[in-house]
Amino acid sequence: IQYSMVDLNTVFEEILPIVESQANLYGIDVQFASRGKLPMVVGDNELLKQVFINICKNGIEAMGEQGSLRISHHFDQDGDKVSIDIHDSGPGIPLYIIDKIFDPFFTTKEEGTGLGLSVCQKIIHDIGGQIRVSSKGFGTTFHIMLPY
Ligand code: ADP
Ligand code: MG
Repeated sequence: IQYSMVDLNTVFEEILPIVESQANLYGIDVQFASRGKLPMVVGDNELLKQVFINICKNGIEAMGEQGSLRISHHFDQDGDKVSIDIHDSGPGIPLYIIDKIFDPFFTTKEEGTGLGLSVCQKIIHDIGGQIRVSSKGFGTTFHIMLPY
């Protein structure tokens, strides 16, 4: 893949309508706090869209009816990485599975493929980033950290 400079603001302008239309079907509220504030990263526009859509979709699927999906960002202390933080108010991820969710084919869904997060992780690692998850009993946040 030939990487190029990708404007994360454009990535989110392109995926938000898709995420919002899915969320609206379930009465889920979407908050995007980062409009116009995101940096450029080196990567592939389509693959990055796929990553963020997948993570938002998992959050929406976890919430079922009602809830909120919040997308925000923060810069790390060294000022060379941005973290995109995607939070859902769903049930959270039980401790006994949290170490498995990035494994290929791991799913807890009847019709799941279990490939979403493993593909997301590969895409992010390939451009020098990291994905972390935090979930403590209630709600889940995925942190997608990227060099910029
Ligand atoms: P799939 O969506 O096909 O199940 P993924 O790789 O996208 O595969 O996710 C793997 C598993 O991780 C899911 O089946 C689910 O158990 C868990 N998971 C992922 N995101 C969330 C979330 N936001 N809240 C709760 N569980 C989650
Ligand atoms: Mg998925």
